[in-house]
Amino acid sequence: MTFADLGLSPELLKAVETSGYTEPTAIQAQAIPPVLMMKDIIGIAQTGTGKTASFVLPMIDILAHGRRRALMPRSLILEPTRELAAQVAENFEKYGKNHDLRMALLIGGVQMGDQIKALQEGVDVLIATPGRLMDLFERGKILLTGCDLLVIDEADRMLDMGFIPDIETICSKLPATRQTLLFSATMPPPIKKLADRFLTNPKYIEV
Ligand code: AMP
Repeated sequence: MTFADLGLSPELLKAVETSGYTEPTAIQAQAIPPVLMMKDIIGIAQTGTGKTASFVLPMIDILAHGRRRALMPRSLILEPTRELAAQVAENFEKYGKNHDLRMALLIGGVQMGDQIKALQEGVDVLIATPGRLMDLFERGKILLTGCDLLVIDEADRMLDMGFIPDIETICSKLPATRQTLLFSATMPPPIKKLADRFLTNPKYIEV
């Protein structure tokens, strides 16, 4: 299996090559094709398996080949911690540097001013922790009605940190017709319930 077999665009294949990756990891090989086909997926994978690229690479292709609709964010990646959110943002920058995609990193511990400014200028992808996202949403600074691609990463850690009610609220603000990708290292019952409620006919991938 090579990256070229997965359906990624030539620009993305170049970014992968620049990263020095020769072969897709198991989660990448199994997740990238269905994500590009706009399917929902549940990916059971630990950190360190190449999980981040398994959603960031196809997301860049989807966003680069779709149309920006005014200033509304088009996609949302939820991460349990600031550090993980920042890492995903770095990955987005690394793989997406040849694409004109705008990103906003919405995490706590930093002033909201720059985040609000980024939102006002229009973004393609929001990378957020639930707390800061809810805060900005409640202040009326974010419209989520255009976000038809959602990633819930590290779902079991979200559960441990008490974020499930926030995630349910956020999901209810997104369009019902959307693509949702859920990643978790384990699948405890509350996460299974969340997936049953918010994903549609997901492909189950376990690595
Ligand atoms: P992650 O599981 O997303 O945290 O990724 C773990 C590490 O694997 C990161 O440092 C990536 O840069 C690296 N990585 C991701 N995909 C590949 C690949 N196909 N080949 C080699 N390294 C990779």
